[in-house]
Amino acid sequence: MSRKVVCCFCKSLQAALQRPSVRQLAGRSFSKPPDIGRQTSFSGRSHTCGELTKTDIGKQVTICGWVQHQRLQQFVVLRDWHGLTQVIIPDEKKPAVPDLALESVIQVTGLVQERPDGQQNTKMPTGEIEVVLKDIQVLNECKPNLPFNIQDFHKVKEALRMEYRYLDLRNKDLQRNLRLRSEMVMKMREFLCNQNGFVDVETPTLFRQTPGGAKEFVVPSRFAGKFYTLPQSPQQFKQLLMVGGIDRYVQIARCYRDEGSKPERQPEFTQVDIEMSFVNQDNVLDLVEHMLVHCWPESKGRLSIPFPRMTYHEAMAKYGVDKPDTRFDMQICDVTDIIRESNLETFRPLLDQPSASIQAVNITGGALHFSNKDISSLQSVVQENSAEKIFKVIKVKEDGSLQSPLVKHLRADDVSRLKATLKPLSGDLILLSGGNQFEPHSVLGRLRLECASLLESKGVEVRKKADFNFLWVVDFPLFLPKEGGGVESAHHPFTAAHPDDAHLLTTHPNQVRSQHYDLVVNGSEIGGGSIRIHNADEQRFVLEKVLQEDCSELSHLLDALESGCPPHGGIALGLDRLMAVVCGTPSIRDVIAFPKSHDGKDPMSKAPAVVSQEELDVYHIQIKDT
Ligand code: ASP
Repeated sequence: MSRKVVCCFCKSLQAALQRPSVRQLAGRSFSKPPDIGRQTSFSGRSHTCGELTKTDIGKQVTICGWVQHQRLQQFVVLRDWHGLTQVIIPDEKKPAVPDLALESVIQVTGLVQERPDGQQNTKMPTGEIEVVLKDIQVLNECKPNLPFNIQDFHKVKEALRMEYRYLDLRNKDLQRNLRLRSEMVMKMREFLCNQNGFVDVETPTLFRQTPGGAKEFVVPSRFAGKFYTLPQSPQQFKQLLMVGGIDRYVQIARCYRDEGSKPERQPEFTQVDIEMSFVNQDNVLDLVEHMLVHCWPESKGRLSIPFPRMTYHEAMAKYGVDKPDTRFDMQICDVTDIIRESNLETFRPLLDQPSASIQAVNITGGALHFSNKDISSLQSVVQENSAEKIFKVIKVKEDGSLQSPLVKHLRADDVSRLKATLKPLSGDLILLSGGNQFEPHSVLGRLRLECASLLESKGVEVRKKADFNFLWVVDFPLFLPKEGGGVESAHHPFTAAHPDDAHLLTTHPNQVRSQHYDLVVNGSEIGGGSIRIHNADEQRFVLEKVLQEDCSELSHLLDALESGCPPHGGIALGLDRLMAVVCGTPSIRDVIAFPKSHDGKDPMSKAPAVVSQEELDVYHIQIKDT
C-alpha cells in the first residue's frame, strides 16, 4: 500500500510557494535595489584581525571583519573576536572604497607595513603594523542606525539588548563569557569521558509527568487528553542508565522548569548531569572536586581541594542559610541563654515557647558606616521576612559601650556576656533577632548579606572579588514539613537516607537526615546530588507511605529497582550559575547566548507565540475565552 509522506522539506517548499515571489516583490518600491543574486563566492581570509605583527611586514594578507571605525576615507579599523587591525587606504584606492556604515562586514586584501614613527599603538597587539589596502569586498553592508552602538552596550537597557541579542553578542564581555563556558565544558568532558571512563548519553526531552519536584512544562500530544512533559532534570533516566549497566554517565543536559517569573531563574537551563554506580558520597564529592580543578580557568587562580564540608545544621546556625557565603565572617551567635537569664519582659512570651531562640550577629563597621536610613531599611527587610518577630539593633560606641534601649534594661553582667560572645569593636552594629527554630537565623542570614552589600556600596571591602569559596553542605534533612500538613522531599524522592538515621525512616521520618549534598560557592548553590535509594521496597515506602504519592506513575522506576540495580549516586551542577560565578557576572543571562527574560519570554523571537486553532486541533486543544 502506498502512503503519501509529506516530509518537512516539502512543507517548507509549499510554504515558500505561498509566499510572494521575487518577481512579485519587484513590483514594490524599495529605497535601494534589493541585493539579490549578487552574492559573490567568498574567497576566505588568511589571518584574523588580531594576529598580524611586525613579523608579517611585507606579506600580502586577506582579513575580514566588522567595520569598527572609518575615518575620512583614510583608514578603516576592522574588528573580529581576535582583535582590531588598521587598514590604510592609499589615494589611488579611495574611489574604490565606499562610504561604509559601521558594523558592515568587509574583506580586505593588502600588504602589511610598519606603522610610521609616532603612530604605533602599544595598547593593541597589532599596533605596530597596518594593512595597505589593495582590494576591498563589502560582504554585507550594515543598515544605518542599528538599535544601539556595539561599543556602548553597557549603557543600553537589557531589554533592548535581548531584543537584538545577535548584536549584543558582538560585545566583548558576552563573547568572553561564552568562550570561557565552551572551554570549561570541553575540559569537563575531557576529564570525565577521556580520563575517567564516563559515557556521554543523551536522554529524552519528551517525558511524562511524575510526582514530586518542580513544576514541569506540559507538551500536547496527538493522543487526545495525553501530554508529554519536558523533564525538570534527567534524574530518572540517569538512574535507569545505572540499572542498564552504563556505570558512569554524564550529559550536558538541558532541563526545564515552569516556575513562573523569578529573577534569577530561566525556564530552560543547563546542568552538567552525572551519575555513577558502586559509589558512596565521598567518591562523588572527590570526583567533582577533581573535575573542577581540571576545568578551572588558569586566570582565576588555583582551586584548593578538598573543599570544606559543613552540615546543613551548622550552615543554618552560623549563616542562617543553606548556601553560606563564607568569604566573610560575621557569623550568627546564639544568645538565647544570656537573654533568658536577663529575665527581660519583652522576651518572656517568646522564650516560653519550646523551640524559641534569640540569635545575634555583629556587623563589623555597621554603626560607623550606616546612616539611620540604612538601619531602617534593614528593619524593613526584617518586616518583609517575619512579621511580629523580635528584632533589636545595638550600636557599639567609640568607647566600646553598647547603645540601645534594650541594653539599658540589661544587667552589667548580661552586657559583658553579650560582649564576650559577639566580640564587638567600636563602630560595629549588633543585630539581634528572636523567633522559633531557624527563623531568627534566616532573618539574620539575610541581613548579614544585605549588610555586606551595603558596606560594599560605601566602599568598604567585605568580600574579595577574586575569591572562590567553595564548600559542600551535607546532612540535609530528608523531608521537610509541607504546607497544609504532611511532609515533602527536601530534594527529590529518590534520595537515600543517611546510614546513621535509616532506622528512623519507618518511625520518625522527620528526624531522618539524607545523603544529599550541595556544592556552594560564594553564597550560590551551584550543584546538588545524592546517593539514591536502590531498593524497590524502600523507594515504594517513601513514595507511598511517607510522601503519600501515587506510585503507579513511577512503576517503570520501581520495576527497574527490582531488576538488578547497583547502588548508585550522582550530582548535577548548574552550568549557568557556575559560569556566572566564574565570569563574575551579576546575572546568569550574561553567560547564556539566547536567554529568556525574567518572565520566560524571548524578546527577540517573541516566543511564546500564538498558534492557529487549525494547528491546535491536531492536539485536541481549544483556547478558552479569557
Ligand atoms: N536531579 C537533581 C537536580 O536536578 C540532581 C541530582 O540529584 O543529581 O537537582
